[in-house]
Amino acid sequence: MKPLVLALVLLAPALFASERPNILFIFSDDHALNAISAYGGPLKDAAPTPNLDRIAEQGAIFTRSYCCNSICGPSRAAILTGKHSHINGYLDNNNSTFDGSQTTFPKLLQKAGYQTALVGKWHLVSKPQGFDYWEILPGQGSYYNPDFLQQGGGKKRYTGYCTDIVTERALDWLKNGRDGDKPFILMCQHKAPHRNWSPALRHADLWDDVDLPEPKTLFDDYANRHPSLKKQAMSVEKDFYWGHDMKLKGEPRFPEYFRKGIRNGEYMRMNAEQKKAWDAAYEEENQAMIAAVESGELEGKDVTRWKYQRYIKDYLRCIRAVDEGVGRMLDYLDESGLADNTIVIYSSDQGFYLGEHGWYDKRWMFEESFAMPFLVRWPGVIEPGSRSEALIQNIDYAPTFLEIAGVEVPEAVQGRSLLPVLKASGKAPEDWREGLYYFYSGEHTHRVAAHDGVCNDRYKLMYFPGDKSWNLFDLEKDPQEMKSVHDDPAHADVLERMKKLYSDLRGEYEVSEATQPAHRKDQGWWKQRHQQKLKEVKKGGHELVFIGDSITQGWEGHGKATWEEFYGDRKALNLGYSGDRTEHVLWRLLNGELDGVDPKAYVLMIGTNNSGHRQAPPEETAGGIKLILELLRDRSPEAEILLLSVFPRDEQPDGKLRKINDGINEIIKGHADDGRIHWLDMTDTFLNDEGVLTKEVMPDALHPQGKGYRMWAEAMEPKLEELLK
Ligand code: CA
Repeated sequence: MKPLVLALVLLAPALFASERPNILFIFSDDHALNAISAYGGPLKDAAPTPNLDRIAEQGAIFTRSYCCNSICGPSRAAILTGKHSHINGYLDNNNSTFDGSQTTFPKLLQKAGYQTALVGKWHLVSKPQGFDYWEILPGQGSYYNPDFLQQGGGKKRYTGYCTDIVTERALDWLKNGRDGDKPFILMCQHKAPHRNWSPALRHADLWDDVDLPEPKTLFDDYANRHPSLKKQAMSVEKDFYWGHDMKLKGEPRFPEYFRKGIRNGEYMRMNAEQKKAWDAAYEEENQAMIAAVESGELEGKDVTRWKYQRYIKDYLRCIRAVDEGVGRMLDYLDESGLADNTIVIYSSDQGFYLGEHGWYDKRWMFEESFAMPFLVRWPGVIEPGSRSEALIQNIDYAPTFLEIAGVEVPEAVQGRSLLPVLKASGKAPEDWREGLYYFYSGEHTHRVAAHDGVCNDRYKLMYFPGDKSWNLFDLEKDPQEMKSVHDDPAHADVLERMKKLYSDLRGEYEVSEATQPAHRKDQGWWKQRHQQKLKEVKKGGHELVFIGDSITQGWEGHGKATWEEFYGDRKALNLGYSGDRTEHVLWRLLNGELDGVDPKAYVLMIGTNNSGHRQAPPEETAGGIKLILELLRDRSPEAEILLLSVFPRDEQPDGKLRKINDGINEIIKGHADDGRIHWLDMTDTFLNDEGVLTKEVMPDALHPQGKGYRMWAEAMEPKLEELLK
């Protein structure tokens, strides 16, 4: 930290407490830009959002605002950490639990004297950390009569509609929970308009007698783009459930048009009075549709059109309550006098398809789901009515909030503070970023293929690792993204340039196979060992933790006697797994193996399987090791880390894998610092004078035998003794 910055940070709580602005962050789930009238989409006249528009009119609207991974949990994790998914560990919604022990902006704001509060949807599995106050929905939460998890434990059920209740709980905190001597950040996070798009009963009749406009691409044929577009399961035509999505009652009918299997669980939560109001709004229309299909009057594409109308109306009815809630929050800021010193931001975890390309849902890097709304009001700083085309992303929120609060942004944060952009009313500074990186893991739900990619102000390049193919779109000429021009000779130069941007951004954000956390749960022994290790970790009290692959695991085999002798009395833990590469270690450490672990020292030796299994270039493996080191530093800032050279392999000095490992060591020795990361080169320990790795030490030229483990322990002992003092 530079001395001047340090001084400001230290003085900040005392001097600027009253001047540091409050932050009201209002956040919804799956809110598409086309459903906010300020963005000017085709629904703006039929479904205006006057209160959301008010934020834009009194502040700024960002038209090129994007997520880094278009799905609920991953977007939220990126916002909290300011880091891409592979770094914060929340890659997808199916296999992830947010590692709450990592550094997040609420923790840092809290430390800097901000009061931090969170109300509504959280959806990150683990409990919130870094909040003075929280009250959250369990998982996805419910639309009607929702339960809320309480900070002190247990659940509380509120009667009514979720969006209204989230607004009221947030207002209640502003009125009664706030400490007037401190600046605050309040995160008011709605469940709406997430599937199954269930409206407040007062809005259930909206647009009953009109047809809302259909998107031009409702009947997209998916030609001229990656073949996987045809294989997804999120289409208006094929994938809506009779009960859950279309809110039809009774046994599912017309299987050629409606999927069966999920009933409307929200209806089942309603009380008798609510059900009565619901039935009055929906049943007549439902029966009319059923009769029309029975008689043959309604068929084919017209059923798709009916389904689209049901869907879009319910979705927009949900938005209506969100907009009203935003209005109530803004009114309270005005009445209470807080408005002048409170930044208001409206955003949503990603965009959504409102029938474009024939879809609902998200996940794709195409504009509708890649884009996030971003409206911001900051009285006295942002010129009212500003419009920004700066390329911004959800990883930017954390550094922005930190900089606003006068808190130094940690070096490991990948996003950029938007403060200079906000202060210039949306105009990006000269040195602003050229492009954005995006990643989607390809989980099973909706069968959207894994892809990643980059965009700049005009072009978008997508890569599909499944068949190693590219798509390229010119957003200026083809804003609907209907034709990939990756194989068009006229775009060869653009393709080259975008591939360079792709490679540059993957480099900048440290994206590679070695850094993308991955588990091996398909192998029973591995899964079992992980469960066993979680149990050991829970017992706590470890002072020395070994992390690695089979060579480390071997302390439980050939090295057992030496382990007992050297580490038996030292409360040591062995986190070595045979066959693990850097990406597996990252996954394990992000998924519980560090929970509550805070040793005096770690011993890390990993990477030889990255070399052996796929002959990964040394730079890539070293990148994985670097991230493991950063993760350990973040979770255990006081611990010493003994970084060992990757052990030599291959009998002869000119062996192919020997050379790769030498290359890794050449790079990672530079990761040791003068502080808590210590480098120990073990290469010479195991080699004879000619540089040969003898069978006596490692019979398979990879794994030490009993003698090898003793050599390892003896070579490491002086350093270890010093670190464990
Ligand atoms: Ca979402």
